[in-house]
Amino acid sequence: NVMSSISVPPPKCLQKPLTVPYRHMFGPGPSNVPSRILEAGANPVIGHMHPEIFEIMNDIKSGIQYMFQTQNKMTLAVSGTGHSAMECAIFNAVEPGESVLVAVNGIWGERAAEMAERIGKAHLAPPGGCFTIEEMEKALSKHRPALLFVAHGESSTGVLHPLDGIGQLCHKYNCLFLVDSVASIGGAPVYMDQQEIDILYTGSQKVLNAPPGTAPISFSERACQKIFSRRTKPVSFYLDLSWLANYWGCDGKPSRVYHHTGPVTAFYSLRESLSVLVEEGLENSWERHLKVAEYFHAGLESMGLKLFVKEKRLRLPTVTTIVAPYGYDWKEITSFIMKTHNLEISGGLGPSVGLVLRVGLMGCNSSRENVDMVLAALKDALKHCHKSKV
Ligand code: PMP
Repeated sequence: NVMSSISVPPPKCLQKPLTVPYRHMFGPGPSNVPSRILEAGANPVIGHMHPEIFEIMNDIKSGIQYMFQTQNKMTLAVSGTGHSAMECAIFNAVEPGESVLVAVNGIWGERAAEMAERIGKAHLAPPGGCFTIEEMEKALSKHRPALLFVAHGESSTGVLHPLDGIGQLCHKYNCLFLVDSVASIGGAPVYMDQQEIDILYTGSQKVLNAPPGTAPISFSERACQKIFSRRTKPVSFYLDLSWLANYWGCDGKPSRVYHHTGPVTAFYSLRESLSVLVEEGLENSWERHLKVAEYFHAGLESMGLKLFVKEKRLRLPTVTTIVAPYGYDWKEITSFIMKTHNLEISGGLGPSVGLVLRVGLMGCNSSRENVDMVLAALKDALKHCHKSKV
């Protein structure tokens, strides 16, 4: 009997209904997804090559151009998380043997270097708060890289890296300028064209408040010239910009051909999240994130907590790093807050593990009411968690 030939029985767990709790997502991401955006994603699935989807993709493209402040026609969303956009940028822009200069100020620089080393060479600028234009110029003239990577919002250390002047400098040295804005875009000013950024990417799950799984990215004319005159094909087929450009209607060809099955429901949510941003206005969103962050930082300091980033202008308004309170175990604090306040904040990541607590207030989560909620939870944790006497 063919029916009785299976050896793995149906799992009991899948015979129970799915349950997902509601949580305040105030860690470094993902952030809460408002019902308006969740509901957009619940629309019917239609074909990834249907004209209605192409129209939705065109709308997304316009939304990304607005969010990035760019006229680049090579603007699209990668079907994947922030990491996929990172790899899309690096694997398309760099040919085997070329070198990448990475300004490391946290884990995202480390990760970019790890990716770059898989095809070329990575030169690490030593970690620090951020790099001055003079330091950048010294490193560019020494290493002569094909690409410079900077994380605008380093979510592991809470540093907002200034971008002005770096693009112009890169172009003096015939180098492309790549910026990671996963944790910052929409919450802090970025002007892709004016700042001469050649490749800029982000993720859907932070300030945009969409579910994780799509990653907006844009390429300048200069980046496209290099990429489309490569001698070798990019190592990744899935992330090959010539294919993605065609699927997203960015290559001027009259028709689009099948590359991969676009995650259409994720496109609906992404489109809705961009609509929300358009409704509020980019400048209003920047200002709200800044004001709320300043209110939060003042509240933390009045509780006697210390901010990890000393210089105010270098503080990321979306993700705040707090010096891990002395005498406490940070893990006990984060789990206490999760258990008793149903609220996620997190510890450090990569080079900041053990040193900080991280709180992300992004997109719709960036409000004074939420700041008050986090401050109350932190006060409660400091009162109830074990404190060593040393
Ligand atoms: N870059 C930065 C600055 C990030 O904060 C993150 C996510 N924490 C990523 C890249 C990677 O994004 P993802 O987890 O969506 O792959």
